[in-house]
Amino acid sequence: MKYISTRGHATPQAFCDILLGGLAPDGGLYLPESYPQVSRAELAEWRELPYPALALKIFLKFIDDIPACDLKGIVDRTYTARTYPYCRPGRDASDITPLTTLEPGFHLLELSNGPTLAFKDMAMQLLGNLFEYVLEKRGEAINILGATSGDTGSAAEYAMRGKKNVRVFMLSPHGKMSAFQRAQMYSLQDENIINIAIRGMFDDCQDIVKQVANDAAFKAKYKIGAVNSINWARVLAQIVYYFKGYFAATQSNDEEVAFAVPSGNFGNICAGHIARMMGLPIARLVLATNENDVLDEFFRSGRYRPRGSAETHVTSSPSMDISKASNFERFVFDLVGRDPAMVRQLWAKVDAGEGFDLSGTPFMAKLPQFRFVSGKSTHADRLATIRTVWERYQVMIDPHTADAVKVAREHLLPEVPMIVLETAQPVKFAETIQEALGREPTRPKALEGIEGLPQRVVVMDADAGAVKALIEKVCTTGR
Ligand SMILES: *Cc1c(COP(=O)(O)O)cnc(C)c1O
Repeated sequence: MKYISTRGHATPQAFCDILLGGLAPDGGLYLPESYPQVSRAELAEWRELPYPALALKIFLKFIDDIPACDLKGIVDRTYTARTYPYCRPGRDASDITPLTTLEPGFHLLELSNGPTLAFKDMAMQLLGNLFEYVLEKRGEAINILGATSGDTGSAAEYAMRGKKNVRVFMLSPHGKMSAFQRAQMYSLQDENIINIAIRGMFDDCQDIVKQVANDAAFKAKYKIGAVNSINWARVLAQIVYYFKGYFAATQSNDEEVAFAVPSGNFGNICAGHIARMMGLPIARLVLATNENDVLDEFFRSGRYRPRGSAETHVTSSPSMDISKASNFERFVFDLVGRDPAMVRQLWAKVDAGEGFDLSGTPFMAKLPQFRFVSGKSTHADRLATIRTVWERYQVMIDPHTADAVKVAREHLLPEVPMIVLETAQPVKFAETIQEALGREPTRPKALEGIEGLPQRVVVMDADAGAVKALIEKVCTTGR
Protein backbone atom coordinates (compact mmCIF):
# COMPACT_ATOMS: atom_id res chain seq x y z
CA MET A 1 0.00 0.00 0.00
CA LYS A 2 1.42 3.33 -1.08
CA TYR A 3 0.36 6.77 0.08
CA ILE A 4 -0.33 9.64 -2.28
CA SER A 5 -0.73 13.36 -1.72
CA THR A 6 -4.10 15.08 -2.12
CA ARG A 7 -2.27 17.59 -4.33
CA GLY A 8 -0.78 14.95 -6.59
CA HIS A 9 2.83 16.10 -6.91
CA ALA A 10 4.56 14.04 -4.25
CA THR A 11 6.06 10.62 -4.98
CA PRO A 12 3.98 7.80 -3.52
CA GLN A 13 5.44 6.72 -0.18
CA ALA A 14 5.33 3.69 2.10
CA PHE A 15 3.66 3.93 5.52
CA CYS A 16 6.86 4.22 7.59
CA ASP A 17 8.16 6.98 5.33
CA ILE A 18 5.17 9.22 6.02
CA LEU A 19 4.88 8.27 9.69
CA LEU A 20 7.33 10.80 11.05
CA GLY A 21 6.47 13.63 8.69
CA GLY A 22 3.57 16.04 8.42
CA LEU A 23 2.42 17.53 5.14
CA ALA A 24 3.51 16.04 1.82
CA PRO A 25 6.27 18.09 0.12
CA ASP A 26 3.65 19.58 -2.25
CA GLY A 27 1.64 20.89 0.71
CA GLY A 28 -1.02 18.18 0.46
CA LEU A 29 -2.08 15.47 2.90
CA TYR A 30 -1.30 11.80 2.50
CA LEU A 31 -4.00 9.22 1.82
CA PRO A 32 -3.80 5.58 0.73
CA GLU A 33 -3.84 5.30 -3.06
CA SER A 34 -7.11 3.38 -2.67
CA TYR A 35 -9.23 2.33 0.29
CA PRO A 36 -8.88 -1.35 1.17
CA GLN A 37 -12.23 -3.13 1.21
CA VAL A 38 -13.67 -5.29 3.95
CA SER A 39 -15.60 -8.34 2.74
CA ARG A 40 -18.75 -9.71 4.38
CA ALA A 41 -16.76 -12.73 5.54
CA GLU A 42 -14.15 -10.50 7.18
CA LEU A 43 -16.80 -8.40 8.85
CA ALA A 44 -18.34 -11.56 10.30
CA GLU A 45 -14.96 -12.71 11.62
CA TRP A 46 -14.02 -9.30 13.01
CA ARG A 47 -17.25 -9.01 15.03
CA GLU A 48 -15.89 -11.40 17.63
CA LEU A 49 -12.40 -9.89 17.97
CA PRO A 50 -11.04 -8.06 21.00
CA TYR A 51 -9.85 -4.50 20.33
CA PRO A 52 -6.12 -5.16 19.68
CA ALA A 53 -6.84 -8.05 17.31
CA LEU A 54 -9.37 -5.93 15.42
CA ALA A 55 -6.88 -3.07 15.21
CA LEU A 56 -4.25 -5.44 13.81
CA LYS A 57 -6.62 -6.73 11.08
CA ILE A 58 -7.39 -3.16 10.02
CA PHE A 59 -3.80 -1.90 10.18
CA LEU A 60 -2.55 -4.83 8.10
CA LYS A 61 -4.71 -3.55 5.25
CA PHE A 62 -2.88 -0.21 5.32
CA ILE A 63 0.66 -1.06 6.45
CA ASP A 64 2.89 -3.38 4.44
CA ASP A 65 6.31 -2.23 5.54
CA ILE A 66 6.21 -3.45 9.16
CA PRO A 67 6.29 -7.25 9.60
CA ALA A 68 2.93 -8.53 10.91
CA CYS A 69 4.47 -10.01 14.05
CA ASP A 70 6.12 -6.68 14.93
CA LEU A 71 2.90 -4.82 14.25
CA LYS A 72 1.07 -7.25 16.49
CA GLY A 73 3.54 -6.48 19.28
CA ILE A 74 2.98 -2.74 18.84
CA VAL A 75 -0.81 -3.09 18.84
CA ASP A 76 -0.82 -5.43 21.84
CA ARG A 77 1.30 -2.97 23.80
CA THR A 78 -0.93 -0.05 22.81
CA TYR A 79 -4.47 -1.24 23.39
CA THR A 80 -4.45 -2.66 26.91
CA ALA A 81 -6.81 -2.12 29.82
CA ARG A 82 -3.79 -0.68 31.65
CA THR A 83 -3.40 2.09 29.08
CA TYR A 84 -7.14 2.86 28.98
CA PRO A 85 -8.22 2.27 32.57
CA TYR A 86 -10.62 5.12 33.27
CA CYS A 87 -13.94 3.67 32.10
CA ARG A 88 -17.29 4.18 33.80
CA PRO A 89 -18.00 1.94 36.77
CA GLY A 90 -19.41 -1.37 35.57
CA ARG A 91 -17.78 -1.18 32.12
CA ASP A 92 -15.00 -3.52 31.07
CA ALA A 93 -11.74 -1.61 30.54
CA SER A 94 -10.44 -4.37 28.26
CA ASP A 95 -13.12 -3.31 25.75
CA ILE A 96 -10.87 -0.20 25.33
CA THR A 97 -13.87 1.72 23.93
CA PRO A 98 -16.88 0.47 25.94
CA LEU A 99 -20.38 1.31 24.76
CA THR A 100 -22.81 3.01 27.14
CA THR A 101 -26.47 2.74 26.14
CA LEU A 102 -28.49 5.77 27.18
CA GLU A 103 -31.72 4.37 25.76
CA PRO A 104 -32.45 1.69 23.17
CA GLY A 105 -30.84 2.78 19.92
CA PHE A 106 -28.92 5.71 21.43
CA HIS A 107 -25.40 5.06 22.66
CA LEU A 108 -22.17 6.69 23.75
CA LEU A 109 -18.88 5.16 22.62
CA GLU A 110 -16.34 5.90 25.36
CA LEU A 111 -13.14 7.07 23.67
CA SER A 112 -11.69 8.99 26.57
CA ASN A 113 -10.53 6.33 29.00
CA GLY A 114 -6.83 6.84 28.29
CA PRO A 115 -4.24 8.66 30.41
CA THR A 116 -5.34 12.19 29.52
CA LEU A 117 -9.09 11.52 29.50
CA ALA A 118 -9.62 12.67 25.91
CA PHE A 119 -9.99 10.70 22.69
CA LYS A 120 -6.65 12.00 21.39
CA ASP A 121 -5.07 9.19 23.45
CA MET A 122 -6.66 6.59 21.17
CA ALA A 123 -4.37 7.63 18.32
CA MET A 124 -1.47 9.20 20.15
CA GLN A 125 -0.64 6.07 22.18
CA LEU A 126 -0.28 4.13 18.92
CA LEU A 127 1.86 6.89 17.48
CA GLY A 128 4.21 6.71 20.49
CA ASN A 129 4.81 3.00 20.00
CA LEU A 130 5.13 3.32 16.21
CA PHE A 131 7.65 6.16 16.54
CA GLU A 132 9.76 4.19 19.00
CA TYR A 133 9.74 1.15 16.72
CA VAL A 134 10.61 2.96 13.48
CA LEU A 135 13.27 5.21 15.05
CA GLU A 136 14.96 2.22 16.65
CA LYS A 137 14.97 0.33 13.33
CA ARG A 138 16.47 3.29 11.51
CA GLY A 139 18.86 4.37 14.22
CA GLU A 140 17.29 7.83 14.22
CA ALA A 141 16.01 10.21 16.87
CA ILE A 142 13.41 12.96 16.86
CA ASN A 143 12.65 16.08 18.87
CA ILE A 144 8.93 16.77 18.79
CA LEU A 145 8.10 20.43 19.12
CA GLY A 146 4.49 21.40 19.71
CA ALA A 147 2.17 24.04 21.06
CA THR A 148 -0.92 23.19 23.06
CA SER A 149 -3.81 24.80 24.83
CA GLY A 150 -4.43 21.55 26.68
CA ASP A 151 -5.67 18.31 25.10
CA THR A 152 -3.24 17.59 22.28
CA GLY A 153 -0.07 18.43 24.14
CA SER A 154 -0.85 16.28 27.13
CA ALA A 155 -1.89 13.36 24.92
CA ALA A 156 1.41 13.66 23.04
CA GLU A 157 3.41 13.77 26.27
CA TYR A 158 1.70 10.73 27.78
CA ALA A 159 2.25 8.84 24.52
CA MET A 160 5.94 9.73 24.21
CA ARG A 161 7.04 9.64 27.85
CA GLY A 162 9.94 7.29 28.38
CA LYS A 163 10.16 6.40 24.69
CA LYS A 164 13.67 5.83 23.36
CA ASN A 165 15.03 8.32 20.79
CA VAL A 166 12.08 10.67 21.28
CA ARG A 167 12.06 13.98 23.14
CA VAL A 168 9.09 16.30 23.46
CA PHE A 169 9.30 20.08 23.81
CA MET A 170 5.77 21.28 24.49
CA LEU A 171 4.87 24.95 24.68
CA SER A 172 1.78 25.98 26.62
CA PRO A 173 0.46 29.43 27.57
CA HIS A 174 1.60 30.27 31.11
CA GLY A 175 -1.31 30.48 33.52
CA LYS A 176 -3.96 29.96 30.84
CA MET A 177 -4.76 26.28 31.37
CA SER A 178 -6.91 24.80 34.13
CA ALA A 179 -5.21 23.55 37.30
CA PHE A 180 -6.12 20.01 36.28
CA GLN A 181 -4.59 20.40 32.81
CA ARG A 182 -1.43 21.93 34.25
CA ALA A 183 -1.12 19.10 36.74
CA GLN A 184 -1.62 16.52 33.99
CA MET A 185 1.23 17.89 31.90
CA TYR A 186 3.66 19.44 34.34
CA SER A 187 3.67 16.58 36.85
CA LEU A 188 5.37 14.29 34.34
CA GLN A 189 8.89 13.69 35.61
CA ASP A 190 10.22 11.84 32.57
CA GLU A 191 13.55 13.18 31.31
CA ASN A 192 12.38 13.19 27.69
CA ILE A 193 9.38 15.45 28.34
CA ILE A 194 10.18 19.15 28.50
CA ASN A 195 7.30 21.45 29.40
CA ILE A 196 7.78 25.09 28.49
CA ALA A 197 5.23 27.60 29.78
CA ILE A 198 5.30 30.72 27.61
CA ARG A 199 4.37 34.10 29.05
CA GLY A 200 1.73 34.78 26.40
CA MET A 201 -1.27 33.24 24.70
CA PHE A 202 -1.68 30.00 22.77
CA ASP A 203 -1.14 31.89 19.50
CA ASP A 204 2.26 33.06 20.76
CA CYS A 205 3.20 29.45 21.42
CA GLN A 206 2.10 28.43 17.96
CA ASP A 207 4.05 31.31 16.38
CA ILE A 208 7.22 30.15 18.11
CA VAL A 209 6.73 26.62 16.78
CA LYS A 210 6.31 28.03 13.27
CA GLN A 211 9.37 30.24 13.57
CA VAL A 212 11.53 27.37 14.76
CA ALA A 213 10.20 25.05 12.03
CA ASN A 214 10.88 27.72 9.40
CA ASP A 215 14.58 27.69 10.29
CA ALA A 216 15.44 24.79 7.97
CA ALA A 217 19.04 24.45 9.19
CA PHE A 218 17.99 24.33 12.85
CA LYS A 219 15.15 21.96 12.04
CA ALA A 220 17.49 19.54 10.26
CA LYS A 221 20.28 19.77 12.81
CA TYR A 222 18.01 19.06 15.78
CA LYS A 223 15.63 16.72 13.92
CA ILE A 224 12.57 18.75 14.83
CA GLY A 225 9.29 16.95 14.17
CA ALA A 226 5.62 17.31 15.01
CA VAL A 227 2.65 15.13 15.91
CA ASN A 228 -0.20 17.26 14.60
CA SER A 229 -3.68 16.18 13.67
CA ILE A 230 -2.91 15.72 9.96
CA ASN A 231 -0.58 12.82 10.75
CA TRP A 232 -1.92 9.88 8.76
CA ALA A 233 -1.23 7.30 11.50
CA ARG A 234 -3.51 9.23 13.84
CA VAL A 235 -6.37 9.05 11.35
CA LEU A 236 -5.65 5.37 10.78
CA ALA A 237 -5.79 4.56 14.50
CA GLN A 238 -9.20 6.21 14.74
CA ILE A 239 -10.75 3.98 12.05
CA VAL A 240 -10.67 1.02 14.46
CA TYR A 241 -13.23 2.28 16.95
CA TYR A 242 -15.83 2.89 14.25
CA PHE A 243 -15.73 -0.86 13.60
CA LYS A 244 -15.69 -1.61 17.32
CA GLY A 245 -18.66 0.70 17.93
CA TYR A 246 -20.58 -0.82 15.04
CA PHE A 247 -20.15 -4.34 16.40
CA ALA A 248 -21.09 -3.25 19.92
CA ALA A 249 -24.31 -1.52 18.87
CA THR A 250 -25.63 -4.15 16.42
CA GLN A 251 -26.53 -7.85 16.44
CA SER A 252 -25.73 -8.62 12.81
CA ASN A 253 -23.80 -7.22 9.89
CA ASP A 254 -27.04 -6.63 7.99
CA GLU A 255 -27.74 -3.63 10.22
CA GLU A 256 -26.66 -0.06 9.64
CA VAL A 257 -25.65 2.52 12.26
CA ALA A 258 -25.14 6.27 12.46
CA PHE A 259 -22.25 8.01 14.19
CA ALA A 260 -22.32 11.51 15.66
CA VAL A 261 -18.92 13.18 16.02
CA PRO A 262 -17.99 16.42 17.79
CA SER A 263 -15.68 17.93 15.20
CA GLY A 264 -12.85 20.43 15.06
CA ASN A 265 -10.03 19.59 12.69
CA PHE A 266 -12.08 16.90 10.96
CA GLY A 267 -9.64 14.16 12.04
CA ASN A 268 -12.06 12.00 13.98
CA ILE A 269 -14.91 12.06 11.49
CA CYS A 270 -12.48 11.62 8.59
CA ALA A 271 -11.70 8.21 10.08
CA GLY A 272 -15.45 7.47 10.04
CA HIS A 273 -15.63 8.47 6.40
CA ILE A 274 -12.78 6.07 5.59
CA ALA A 275 -14.40 3.25 7.61
CA ARG A 276 -17.54 3.75 5.48
CA MET A 277 -15.51 3.79 2.27
CA MET A 278 -13.99 0.45 3.36
CA GLY A 279 -17.47 -1.04 3.53
CA LEU A 280 -18.59 -0.59 7.14
CA PRO A 281 -22.41 -0.22 7.02
CA ILE A 282 -22.71 3.41 8.13
CA ALA A 283 -26.01 5.03 7.18
CA ARG A 284 -25.10 8.47 8.38
CA LEU A 285 -22.15 10.49 9.69
CA VAL A 286 -23.43 13.34 11.83
CA LEU A 287 -20.92 16.16 12.10
CA ALA A 288 -21.42 18.45 15.11
CA THR A 289 -19.73 21.81 15.57
CA ASN A 290 -19.95 24.41 18.28
CA GLU A 291 -20.26 28.13 17.56
CA ASN A 292 -17.24 27.72 15.28
CA ASP A 293 -19.36 26.36 12.47
CA VAL A 294 -17.12 26.38 9.35
CA LEU A 295 -17.81 22.70 8.74
CA ASP A 296 -21.55 22.88 9.42
CA GLU A 297 -21.74 25.71 6.92
CA PHE A 298 -19.98 23.60 4.30
CA PHE A 299 -22.21 20.56 4.69
CA ARG A 300 -25.32 22.72 4.55
CA SER A 301 -24.35 25.04 1.72
CA GLY A 302 -21.25 23.82 -0.12
CA ARG A 303 -19.39 26.93 0.93
CA TYR A 304 -16.09 26.45 2.80
CA ARG A 305 -15.13 29.69 4.40
CA PRO A 306 -12.23 29.33 6.86
CA ARG A 307 -12.13 32.21 9.30
CA GLY A 308 -9.22 34.20 10.61
CA SER A 309 -8.10 33.34 14.14
CA ALA A 310 -9.57 36.68 15.26
CA GLU A 311 -13.00 35.40 14.20
CA THR A 312 -12.63 32.17 16.16
CA HIS A 313 -14.99 32.05 19.13
CA VAL A 314 -13.62 30.97 22.49
CA THR A 315 -16.22 28.46 23.66
CA SER A 316 -16.94 25.98 26.43
CA SER A 317 -16.05 23.12 24.05
CA PRO A 318 -12.57 24.51 23.41
CA SER A 319 -11.09 21.55 21.54
CA MET A 320 -13.50 22.33 18.70
CA ASP A 321 -12.53 26.00 18.50
CA ILE A 322 -11.01 25.97 15.05
CA SER A 323 -11.23 28.40 12.18
CA LYS A 324 -9.82 26.02 9.57
CA ALA A 325 -10.23 22.23 9.58
CA SER A 326 -6.81 20.82 8.80
CA ASN A 327 -8.00 17.33 7.77
CA PHE A 328 -10.89 18.52 5.61
CA GLU A 329 -8.74 18.41 2.48
CA ARG A 330 -8.72 14.61 2.75
CA PHE A 331 -12.50 14.45 2.42
CA VAL A 332 -12.65 17.02 -0.36
CA PHE A 333 -10.10 14.95 -2.32
CA ASP A 334 -12.60 12.07 -2.30
CA LEU A 335 -15.56 14.36 -2.96
CA VAL A 336 -13.98 15.75 -6.15
CA GLY A 337 -13.30 12.24 -7.42
CA ARG A 338 -9.68 12.20 -6.20
CA ASP A 339 -8.66 14.85 -8.70
CA PRO A 340 -5.50 16.49 -7.30
CA ALA A 341 -5.66 19.36 -9.81
CA MET A 342 -9.07 20.31 -8.44
CA VAL A 343 -7.77 20.12 -4.84
CA ARG A 344 -4.83 22.36 -5.77
CA GLN A 345 -7.23 24.85 -7.30
CA LEU A 346 -9.52 24.86 -4.25
CA TRP A 347 -6.71 25.13 -1.72
CA ALA A 348 -5.02 27.91 -3.63
CA LYS A 349 -8.17 29.84 -2.71
CA VAL A 350 -8.11 28.62 0.89
CA ASP A 351 -4.47 29.65 1.24
CA ALA A 352 -5.32 33.06 -0.21
CA GLY A 353 -7.84 33.43 2.61
CA GLU A 354 -10.89 33.22 0.34
CA GLY A 355 -12.25 29.73 0.79
CA PHE A 356 -14.36 28.14 -1.94
CA ASP A 357 -17.93 27.47 -2.95
CA LEU A 358 -19.04 24.14 -4.41
CA SER A 359 -22.74 24.97 -4.50
CA GLY A 360 -24.17 24.46 -7.96
CA THR A 361 -21.25 22.23 -9.01
CA PRO A 362 -21.58 18.51 -9.81
CA PHE A 363 -19.62 17.82 -6.62
CA MET A 364 -22.48 19.11 -4.51
CA ALA A 365 -24.82 16.67 -6.24
CA LYS A 366 -22.45 13.88 -5.18
CA LEU A 367 -22.29 14.99 -1.54
CA PRO A 368 -25.36 12.99 -0.33
CA GLN A 369 -23.72 9.74 -1.33
CA PHE A 370 -21.06 10.37 1.33
CA ARG A 371 -23.84 10.33 3.96
CA PHE A 372 -22.75 13.39 5.92
CA VAL A 373 -25.24 15.60 7.73
CA SER A 374 -24.36 18.35 10.15
CA GLY A 375 -25.52 20.74 12.82
CA LYS A 376 -24.23 23.17 15.40
CA SER A 377 -24.56 23.66 19.11
CA THR A 378 -24.20 26.68 21.36
CA HIS A 379 -23.16 27.22 24.97
CA ALA A 380 -26.83 27.17 26.04
CA ASP A 381 -27.42 23.92 24.10
CA ARG A 382 -24.37 22.39 25.74
CA LEU A 383 -25.57 23.22 29.25
CA ALA A 384 -29.11 22.01 28.53
CA THR A 385 -27.81 18.75 27.02
CA ILE A 386 -25.44 18.03 29.91
CA ARG A 387 -28.36 18.62 32.28
CA THR A 388 -30.86 16.46 30.35
CA VAL A 389 -28.46 13.54 29.99
CA TRP A 390 -27.64 13.74 33.70
CA GLU A 391 -31.26 13.94 34.80
CA ARG A 392 -32.59 11.30 32.43
CA TYR A 393 -29.82 8.75 32.52
CA GLN A 394 -27.56 9.70 35.49
CA VAL A 395 -24.69 9.87 33.03
CA MET A 396 -22.34 12.85 33.14
CA ILE A 397 -20.98 13.98 29.77
CA ASP A 398 -18.42 16.61 28.83
CA PRO A 399 -19.23 19.72 26.75
CA HIS A 400 -17.81 18.32 23.48
CA THR A 401 -19.83 15.13 23.76
CA ALA A 402 -22.84 17.30 24.61
CA ASP A 403 -22.48 19.14 21.29
CA ALA A 404 -22.62 15.80 19.50
CA VAL A 405 -25.58 14.51 21.53
CA LYS A 406 -27.51 17.69 20.74
CA VAL A 407 -26.90 17.46 17.00
CA ALA A 408 -27.37 13.65 16.95
CA ARG A 409 -30.94 14.06 18.23
CA GLU A 410 -31.72 16.25 15.21
CA HIS A 411 -30.60 13.57 12.78
CA LEU A 412 -32.02 10.27 14.06
CA LEU A 413 -33.09 7.72 11.47
CA PRO A 414 -35.85 5.23 12.30
CA GLU A 415 -34.48 1.79 13.23
CA VAL A 416 -30.85 2.93 12.92
CA PRO A 417 -28.84 2.94 16.15
CA MET A 418 -27.08 6.27 16.84
CA ILE A 419 -23.59 6.07 18.32
CA VAL A 420 -22.28 9.33 19.76
CA LEU A 421 -18.51 9.46 20.10
CA GLU A 422 -17.62 10.55 23.63
CA THR A 423 -14.40 12.52 23.20
CA ALA A 424 -13.50 13.68 26.70
CA GLN A 425 -14.37 13.16 30.34
CA PRO A 426 -16.26 15.88 32.23
CA VAL A 427 -13.53 16.33 34.85
CA LYS A 428 -11.45 18.21 32.27
CA PHE A 429 -14.13 20.90 32.04
CA ALA A 430 -15.17 21.39 35.63
CA GLU A 431 -16.33 24.99 35.16
CA THR A 432 -18.93 24.12 32.54
CA ILE A 433 -20.12 21.10 34.52
CA GLN A 434 -20.54 23.36 37.55
CA GLU A 435 -22.53 25.78 35.46
CA ALA A 436 -24.76 23.05 34.05
CA LEU A 437 -25.25 20.83 37.08
CA GLY A 438 -24.20 22.89 40.08
CA ARG A 439 -21.80 20.18 41.17
CA GLU A 440 -18.24 19.05 40.66
CA PRO A 441 -17.61 16.53 37.88
CA THR A 442 -16.77 12.98 38.83
CA ARG A 443 -13.10 12.17 38.57
CA PRO A 444 -11.39 8.78 38.26
CA LYS A 445 -10.06 7.75 41.68
CA ALA A 446 -6.49 7.41 40.47
CA LEU A 447 -6.42 11.06 39.46
CA GLU A 448 -7.57 12.48 42.76
CA GLY A 449 -5.18 15.07 44.10
CA ILE A 450 -2.91 15.26 41.06
CA GLU A 451 -2.93 19.05 41.43
CA GLY A 452 -0.72 18.53 44.53
CA LEU A 453 2.05 16.59 42.76
CA PRO A 454 5.42 18.27 42.16
CA GLN A 455 5.57 19.98 38.76
CA ARG A 456 8.37 20.23 36.22
CA VAL A 457 8.10 23.20 33.86
CA VAL A 458 10.33 25.97 32.50
CA VAL A 459 8.70 29.40 32.28
CA MET A 460 9.97 31.59 29.42
CA ASP A 461 9.13 34.74 27.50
CA ALA A 462 7.51 34.45 24.07
CA ASP A 463 10.86 34.45 22.29
CA ALA A 464 11.70 31.89 19.61
CA GLY A 465 15.45 32.51 20.08
CA ALA A 466 15.27 31.55 23.74
CA VAL A 467 13.28 28.42 22.95
CA LYS A 468 15.86 27.43 20.33
CA ALA A 469 18.64 27.98 22.85
CA LEU A 470 16.88 25.69 25.31
CA ILE A 471 16.42 22.96 22.67
CA GLU A 472 20.10 23.27 21.76
CA LYS A 473 21.17 23.00 25.38
CA VAL A 474 18.99 19.97 26.12
CA CYS A 475 20.13 18.25 22.93
CA THR A 476 23.82 18.79 23.61
CA THR A 477 23.96 18.31 27.37
CA GLY A 478 21.00 15.90 27.66
CA ARG A 479 19.34 18.10 30.30
C1 LIG B 1 -9.63 17.23 19.44
C2 LIG B 1 -10.98 17.10 20.05
C3 LIG B 1 -12.16 17.17 19.28
C4 LIG B 1 -12.14 17.44 17.79
O1 LIG B 1 -11.65 16.36 17.05
P1 LIG B 1 -11.13 16.56 15.53
O2 LIG B 1 -10.49 15.28 15.18
O3 LIG B 1 -10.18 17.72 15.55
O4 LIG B 1 -12.35 16.85 14.70
C5 LIG B 1 -13.38 17.01 19.91
N1 LIG B 1 -13.46 16.80 21.24
C6 LIG B 1 -12.35 16.73 22.02
C7 LIG B 1 -12.51 16.55 23.47
C8 LIG B 1 -11.08 16.88 21.46
O5 LIG B 1 -9.99 16.82 22.25
